[in-house]
Amino acid sequence: MNNINEPISILKKYYGYDDFREGQESVINTILEGNDCLAIMPTGAGKSICYQIPALMFDGITIVISPLISLMQDQVKALKSAQIEACYINSYLTDLEIAKVFADVSAGKYKIMYVSPERLDNVKFWEYCRSLNISMVTVDEAHCLSQWGQDFRPSYLRISEFVKRLPKRPVVSGFTATATAAVKNDIIKRLELINPQITSTGYDRTNLYYRVEATTKKEKYIVDYILQHQNQAGIIYCATRKNVEKIYEALIKADINATMYHAGLSNSNRKKNQDDFIYDRKDIIVATNAFGMGIDKSNVRFVIHYNMPQSIENYYQEAGRAGRDGEEAECTLLFSSQDIVINKFLLENKDFSNVSHEDVELVKHNDSLRLKSMIEYCQTTSCLRDYILTYFGENKKGDCNKCGNCSREYKVADMKEQAKWVINCVAETKGSYGINVVIKTLRGARSSKLIDIGAVNYKSYGRLKDETEVNLRTLINQMICDGLLVQTDSKYSVLRMGNIDRLKQAEPYNVKQCKSVKKKAPSNNIKDKKDETLFELLRKLRLRLAKEEGMPPYIVFSDKTLVDMVNKCPKTIDEFLDVSGVGQAKAEKYGDEFIGAIVEYSRNSSKNMNLHENDC
Ligand code: ADP
Repeated sequence: MNNINEPISILKKYYGYDDFREGQESVINTILEGNDCLAIMPTGAGKSICYQIPALMFDGITIVISPLISLMQDQVKALKSAQIEACYINSYLTDLEIAKVFADVSAGKYKIMYVSPERLDNVKFWEYCRSLNISMVTVDEAHCLSQWGQDFRPSYLRISEFVKRLPKRPVVSGFTATATAAVKNDIIKRLELINPQITSTGYDRTNLYYRVEATTKKEKYIVDYILQHQNQAGIIYCATRKNVEKIYEALIKADINATMYHAGLSNSNRKKNQDDFIYDRKDIIVATNAFGMGIDKSNVRFVIHYNMPQSIENYYQEAGRAGRDGEEAECTLLFSSQDIVINKFLLENKDFSNVSHEDVELVKHNDSLRLKSMIEYCQTTSCLRDYILTYFGENKKGDCNKCGNCSREYKVADMKEQAKWVINCVAETKGSYGINVVIKTLRGARSSKLIDIGAVNYKSYGRLKDETEVNLRTLINQMICDGLLVQTDSKYSVLRMGNIDRLKQAEPYNVKQCKSVKKKAPSNNIKDKKDETLFELLRKLRLRLAKEEGMPPYIVFSDKTLVDMVNKCPKTIDEFLDVSGVGQAKAEKYGDEFIGAIVEYSRNSSKNMNLHENDC
């Protein structure tokens, strides 16, 4: 038996896990040795445990600076449910409540106190902290310190001053999921870390399956996808409020249990809709990118982007809200060339009121470079995971065999002749029509619109009648990306001529076309249909217990823990404690109910199968 004062025993006792994940142990040991550190670990890697375990072991208190109230509330709920005393101070608390927390902290009730960065602007708080024995200051989402990051928070800049004013310098630890080299250096400098150990476990989220679907029938795709993934939690991201409402209505029409979120809704509606999703009362939330910051819901099984985001950074952050519990999850991006138009429009109309005059051009330039990479991601036929990891500066790892592109076979075709006809057709439209008219014209479609506009008399009419619509769309998209054609930003976006000299230089003009789909995305780790029924049963039990306690279900147990329960079928408390994610406190609290449900289920299924022995 391990000494209960060792990190590994705390991991088991409070969190119910047997082993540390990559990076965790080394960060914990560094901190326990009294050294500063900066840990760059992807979402879902388990950063919280890296500072919570040392916090439990230190003499004094750990102050965690966390940028979002909802995040700190969630963390404190999760800690309390594992019977770890923790508290937070934020602007929602009254002065009286804050005084009570201070008194409890001074009396040694808590080991961990979460505060918002703005608290550091408060002189009284500084004075109060000077009276405490602070062992560690932890900076969560440390990239908020850097102006190079996307979520810069000026109050974060006060942290190093705050630390310096303390009577005894505590350990300072920083955590983030996203830090380019510039951001990393900024964090070290601005936090004034002393010889910090830098731990970087890379960006890869191995449980996420990425795919890009080039389709114009996005609404149908989403409805079909959700119907095939019933009872799973999913987020649908759209670029605009209008699209959110359109998709939401389509889902409701298809009888899907959905809600929506965007900045145009009243505060109370937004809060209600968000809670409906977090507490598993609604399976699906359709949202703009205003949704998600500070959402810790770990059992999101898929994220679908109805529109392409403006950068890989945004995409990775939004898609990364899937599968935080480490279970298999899918991230699908629905791409059409119209997305390029929408994003260019949004970027051109971006609010620069907070950016100094001389920086505007630089920011615009960076925005357009980021958008370019995002478009490339949607167009590439190589491994999608590899594209993302390379973008974030990791060494090429080659095909992952777990993304939409690795599951497809492509063939390369020289489409120079076809490209010439596309250009001819766009010239004949005099730049008045969009991609659909061009495709229909080239394929010689018989439609009244083509007759009305006279396209049936074009020289290019029907010239590519043997090409499939998909192939032509792929070709035109590539031509837009290569600058041979330009898609306008107007409401009815049209195709115009770009720099066609580039086609002359291209010899041949290679376009990759999808030939076949080899493999399906992996499903989660539940073994068979019978187990799926048990999983559903346990999910319902979790929902009931969570409701009774007013807690999000994923804080009671994660999906991953339920899957392990289904696979292990515990019948005793000892066996229950063996399930990954079941610590002492949760075993005592929930053990009887879950074991009872599993035993009863096994008995019934044995009866049904006319078996004498328990077959679970
Ligand atoms: P992050 O802050 O890095 O996004 P979290 O700290 O929220 O990640 O952890 C993500 C999930 O992984 C949580 O459900 C957490 O309980 C789980 N987890 C953390 N460490 C381990 C571990 N060693 N073994 C199994 N699960 C773990």
